[in-house]
Amino acid sequence: MVRIAVIPGDGISHEIMPEAVKTLETAHELYEFALDYEIFDYGVEHYLKTGSVVPEDIDDIITALPATFDAALFGAGGTDPRVPSGESAQAVLRGLRRGLDLYANVRPCRLLNDDLSPLKGKTSDDIDFVVIRENTEGYESGTGGNFKVGTPLESEIRPEYNTYGGVRRVIEFAFNFAEQQGRKQVAVAEKGLPNGLWSRVFEEVSAQHPAIEPRHVHVDTMAYLMITAPELIDIVVAENRAGDILSDVGGAIQGSRGLAPAGCFNAEKDFAYFEPVHGTAPDIIGQGIANPMAAIMAAKMMLDYKGHLEAADAIERAVRATIASGTVTSDLGGSSSTAQVGEAVRDALQRDAAN
Ligand code: ATP
Repeated sequence: MVRIAVIPGDGISHEIMPEAVKTLETAHELYEFALDYEIFDYGVEHYLKTGSVVPEDIDDIITALPATFDAALFGAGGTDPRVPSGESAQAVLRGLRRGLDLYANVRPCRLLNDDLSPLKGKTSDDIDFVVIRENTEGYESGTGGNFKVGTPLESEIRPEYNTYGGVRRVIEFAFNFAEQQGRKQVAVAEKGLPNGLWSRVFEEVSAQHPAIEPRHVHVDTMAYLMITAPELIDIVVAENRAGDILSDVGGAIQGSRGLAPAGCFNAEKDFAYFEPVHGTAPDIIGQGIANPMAAIMAAKMMLDYKGHLEAADAIERAVRATIASGTVTSDLGGSSSTAQVGEAVRDALQRDAAN
């Protein structure tokens, strides 16, 4: 049984998430796993109905999710012109990340079709790495703030807040993940002090995993390598904001950030959440042209997590077949709508199962 809390959020989420959910329903019919889900309208829909983006007790609601659900499928929280600035489903995201302490944000970067490669001469053999982004601390920890706001003396402090325990567990997660996935190397991408916390903890943890090659790469060099020599990259572990930026570079070299999914985990918990890497895409809201593939691939990651590997592999084959057929949205050079792409993926899934 897979029990999912579906929380679309803001922006294009309401266009892409229905396609992910319908794809899960098709997979559930074809591969006969039990599926149960509930849709939570937090974000723009909740705002339009009630005047607030989330219920007052949102933190408690999110904290209680693991008692009823195995996983959450989240769309995006952020800018949406239908909601006053400063309000968004980000509260849901904060709850999922920090409230539930899902500290390891796993963002695979794989080229699904050689024709999509924006890098000259690089194929799907070259572009296949995973960015593991710390999800609760670093630059996105929420610590810091503004002082003397609105005066000429206003100051802003936004620290890169790292704890020994927080850094250690995500680096351990990365090495364990590398071992489970048969990967050979883990690189830490950072630019802290020469003997700072990230580099010391990385050395400490890597010494316990002698079969995996450890590599220390400055974060700017890692961004450069992703574009010039992605074949040298295997697993990357990084501080919150650095990991966010690097995984967007990863999305770009996959052909579009509309293709990149993520899964967020805590090694001690039986609950995870999955999302597209992209945001609310405010420039294309309501046009029906958002690429639903990142959301569909996030649903695929969720099935992997729940052990429904056959269905998960079939969804990925269906996405690849749909890209190959040319039924793609404009970010991938096509002219199909969100709904047409979703339908094409589900048709491909049906055909795949019939073969
Ligand atoms: P965030 O701050 O939440 O990461 P952002 O504003 O930095 O969000 P996105 O919302 O991901 O970034 O949008 C960046 C660009 O990528 C926009 O031009 C947007 O239209 C495009 N984009 C994002 N997601 C998709 C998608 N699924 N399909 C097509 N284009 C997309």
